[in-house]
Amino acid sequence: MFKNKTAIITGAGQGIGYGIALALVKEGCNVVVSDINQATCDKAAQDFSGMGVRALGIKCDVSNKAEVDNLVAKTIENFGQLDILVNNAGIYPFKPFGQMIEADWDRVMDVNLKSIFLCSQASINAMKAGSKIINISSIAAFVGFEGLTHYCASKGGVSSFTRALALELAPKKININAVAPGAVDTPGATGSSSEEVKKQTVAAIPLGRMGLAEDIANAVVFLASEKADYIVGQTIIVDGGWTLR
Ligand code: NAP
Repeated sequence: MFKNKTAIITGAGQGIGYGIALALVKEGCNVVVSDINQATCDKAAQDFSGMGVRALGIKCDVSNKAEVDNLVAKTIENFGQLDILVNNAGIYPFKPFGQMIEADWDRVMDVNLKSIFLCSQASINAMKAGSKIINISSIAAFVGFEGLTHYCASKGGVSSFTRALALELAPKKININAVAPGAVDTPGATGSSSEEVKKQTVAAIPLGRMGLAEDIANAVVFLASEKADYIVGQTIIVDGGWTLR
């Protein structure tokens, strides 16, 4: 599906980002696997290199403009083009509102929201008509979660940003959309959760299981494909029905 195309996936050393990169690789896409940890993105690139595509690991803290500019420049230097950008990197540190300090708020906004501005702006000049940007939002853009006021605000921002930039990019035929996952089993989300907490989470999900990285990746692959050419500025919820009630 994506033969001779190149994608950047941020925060792809593990979890949903790794799953998205893997799904794109399975469809023949060359991938730049980016993460804040050099070792994990190198390891992921190594995993994908043997799968019939070109894969490169580039360390990038998505909240840092110089590192983001370097990520896009190195991608063009190595692959000559950029067709798909997946803004996936994000953090969700729980902090009750009364204990939240300015630095907590700023870090979540920088990693989850400013990053989308930085990565999208750095990428669009290198993108041709038909290119796609997909942002990973969250159901936290639509429902509240205690201890995550900063996170909910940042993800609401991601979905609003997606709608507004979609209007500016439409004349260039670059489509930007978002995917909003529900509870997904990843090292970041459930790595330290007890079985009891996982059980409570599953109880809130009508489809009776947590999401897998692959569930989110399937939606991203669709949005990155020509089959989604007429979809712009949308946030597609992939949550097993969590937000239905
Ligand atoms: P994860 O397992 O923690 O993986 C995220 C990856 O991003 C990690 O390798 C992490 O490195 C890296 N990262 C952290 N800060 C970064 C930065 N500043 N620059 C670049 N990379 C950075 O997370 P996940 O659960 O897969 O979540 C991925 C995305 O999905 C996030 O945007 C999250 O908000 C969203 N999401 C997740 C869920 C869920 O239930 N899992 C639900 C809704 C939305 P470190 O491990 O070193 O921090």
